[in-house]
Amino acid sequence: MPELIEVELYRKAATRALNRTVSSVLISSQKYLKQGTQPTDLRSAVCGSRLVTARRTGKLLLLEIGTAVVGLRFGMTGRLIVDGEATINELLYTTSEVQQQHIRFVMNFDEGGTLAVVDPRSFGNVELNPDETSLGPDAMHIPTDDLAQLFKRSRATIKAVLLDQAKISGIGNLLCDEILWRTGLSPTRAGCSLNSEEIERVTHTLRNTIRDLTKRGGSHTGDLQSERHRKGVCPTDGVQLEQTKVAGRTSWWCPEHQL
Ligand SMILES: [Zn+2]
Repeated sequence: MPELIEVELYRKAATRALNRTVSSVLISSQKYLKQGTQPTDLRSAVCGSRLVTARRTGKLLLLEIGTAVVGLRFGMTGRLIVDGEATINELLYTTSEVQQQHIRFVMNFDEGGTLAVVDPRSFGNVELNPDETSLGPDAMHIPTDDLAQLFKRSRATIKAVLLDQAKISGIGNLLCDEILWRTGLSPTRAGCSLNSEEIERVTHTLRNTIRDLTKRGGSHTGDLQSERHRKGVCPTDGVQLEQTKVAGRTSWWCPEHQL
């Protein structure tokens, strides 16, 4: 959290500030800037320039300002606030209330209004001209054949493949468990063990799940969400869910229908 779905909502919110000129930048602490980005460089790169585009790859929001690109990562609890309006009021693992001490980054505009990042746990960061080539294609737009190749070439678990941001970007733990549950595949299966029909099912379900949860309002709105606990059962067949650590992440899945 936030995953691709939340960051896409942030991107849409950021477009409200398009064509405005950055007048000043406030950074709560050097620690919130990704290593290598200096406050003075960031300020001189963006102040006096216009916000041209708001793009996104996976969980990374990219603001093109003049000739510079500012990358925003939201970690576990980051939210984008545009003109004082929270994009998402409810986000798992965080408070919906905005507290002054949690505001990490603010851009003010000549025309008025602000674009700010509030991040209580402060795992997110801001980076000037981030290396976009380190990210795999966005999960919503990855071609089916590319996804098939990723699975076929990998002895890692399918969950590890889907969470590897260098291979396919945007999917986090909650979305991943929901996709695999809807697909009926165990997160512990090796990527290379999937047959063509199963790969097709994953790609189809992946897109539909992203669309569905976007409509519902976030990665935490999946059908499996309320059952992610020790006594949780599969919403389809009522069988008690398994909790397994896969790819270093707590995974909930149904041993009955996820094969
Ligand atoms: Zn089940």
